[in-house]
Amino acid sequence: MKNQNYKDQTLQAKLKFRVPERAKDAEAAAAAAGQSLLGLETTPVINSVLDSLREKGGELIMDRLDGSARLMIVSDLDFTMVDHLDLDNLALFRFNALWEAYYRQDSLLVFSSGRSPTIYKQLRNQKPLLTPDIAIMSVGTEIMYGESMIRDEGWEQYLNQNWSREIVTEETAKFPELTPQSETEQRPHKVSFFVEKIKALKVIRSLSERLEKHGLDVKLIYSNETALDVLPKGAGKGQALAYLLEKFKVDGKMPVNTLVCGDSGNDAELFSIPEVYGVMVSNAQEELLQWHAENAKNNPNIIHATERCAAGIIQAIGNFSLGPNVSPRDIRDFQKCKVEIFNTGHEVVKFYLFYERWRCAEVANSEDYIQNLKLVFFPLGTFVHPSGVEQPVSHCIDLMAKLYGDKQGTDYRIWVDRVSSAQIGSDTWLVKFHKWESFGEERHCCLTTVLLSSKAKVLDGFTWVHMHQTWLEGSEPKDQANWFF
Ligand SMILES: [Mg+2]
Repeated sequence: MKNQNYKDQTLQAKLKFRVPERAKDAEAAAAAAGQSLLGLETTPVINSVLDSLREKGGELIMDRLDGSARLMIVSDLDFTMVDHLDLDNLALFRFNALWEAYYRQDSLLVFSSGRSPTIYKQLRNQKPLLTPDIAIMSVGTEIMYGESMIRDEGWEQYLNQNWSREIVTEETAKFPELTPQSETEQRPHKVSFFVEKIKALKVIRSLSERLEKHGLDVKLIYSNETALDVLPKGAGKGQALAYLLEKFKVDGKMPVNTLVCGDSGNDAELFSIPEVYGVMVSNAQEELLQWHAENAKNNPNIIHATERCAAGIIQAIGNFSLGPNVSPRDIRDFQKCKVEIFNTGHEVVKFYLFYERWRCAEVANSEDYIQNLKLVFFPLGTFVHPSGVEQPVSHCIDLMAKLYGDKQGTDYRIWVDRVSSAQIGSDTWLVKFHKWESFGEERHCCLTTVLLSSKAKVLDGFTWVHMHQTWLEGSEPKDQANWFF
């Protein structure tokens, strides 16, 4: 791991897309950005960026990072970030801990999925997915920002060019080989079907010709050897990423590094974007591997990982030296293994990992750990339980000591999401995050605020001064007494 100390950094990072002072400046900036995205039609994209900036009249789309992201990960979801065969979600939990400990505060997480917003939300309820900064949904036809998923209307207007949903629907109805996907997957700029592999090629050829005759510019994408999407030509995962990168460029905030991650046919476009690193996870499908062999075989910035899904993404971070690549979940004992990177995100991740392992009896039942915790927590500190009850933190640690092994052999898991941190004094930080617990079918979340001090009794660490939790709406358990931290 690189020896970096983020403790001195002020972390009120903000990323904004602003309207430049004068529209002319914006045009100059876009012109300077140039036709840099090889193989993609960038001029309409740039024009669309400018239109979108003008239309928004200065509205902030994102408001998180001050400068360029250190790393932007753009990942597909199904069988890339999420391994549906990994029922314990081990790789995903490893990625989550890595991201929140070392990247969340100065990097960007982008999910790019074929899923519509509806079934994306279903996946988020089923799997412990982090909240992305940007969600590109429905095969690059919808771009949404932040937790509240604010739509990028400029992108959608751009996709209206030479597109008619009605004509696509009419023409596709003439193909009995096409079975429409569910209603939720039919979107303004995406019409989706299932089609058998042996019939796909013929259907695609014939349908393309028919739609061209109507003067439409469409793109047909076949994925997972079963799904056929009809999109406007300017859409797709690659074009949506190109559009985002142009926006960053216009704003002078190109990510330092971008890593794209995928497993199937509709991800291929992501790997066509110049100057990005790419990982095809080990379980990538033949259609993507074949595309790679034919189109990008000699690109050293694209690898085929030997690890599946999220583990393959972690592998790529290490392979391309994009930053820390050892997940805190892979460190069994922090007291024995000194981690030289430390920051507030890492502190929070480390504490909750210990807490999970304590309750699962995955660490030794040692009084030393409890004594160490008492050093980490400020002796007169308080913990405001989400029920509203305030307790001395030392009392909470005594309670925790008694819980050793109460979840042993179960699927009890803890993860944190959206860790953000602001330095509010020379040695104090206000840290906010969502703390999740899952156990069997149950899943609960608290919005958590912690006051950390670096006026350390704790060598190379923080003192936890105060902690306050409130339930995420609709997320409280029936029995609140079972929630301890
Ligand atoms: Mg996939």
